[in-house]
Amino acid sequence: MNVRCNYCRQSFNLSRDYLVEAIAKADEKRQKYHTVECINCRKAIKVSVPQMKRYAPALPAEDEAEAES
Ligand SMILES: [Zn+2]
Repeated sequence: MNVRCNYCRQSFNLSRDYLVEAIAKADEKRQKYHTVECINCRKAIKVSVPQMKRYAPALPAEDEAEAES
């Protein structure tokens, strides 16, 4: 899943494994947003949990061929 920093416009990719873990933590805390640190400027970027779920469904997927950017 591609994320763009609001501060420096750096865009970077979050892996499926990362998303699955982040979604689990967000669900546990009932958060609507997950915070990631920008790889460039290190500011906190909010990523919406529903959006992450679209990229990494709760059930583990066997194929990763259909990844959309
Ligand atoms: Zn940044």
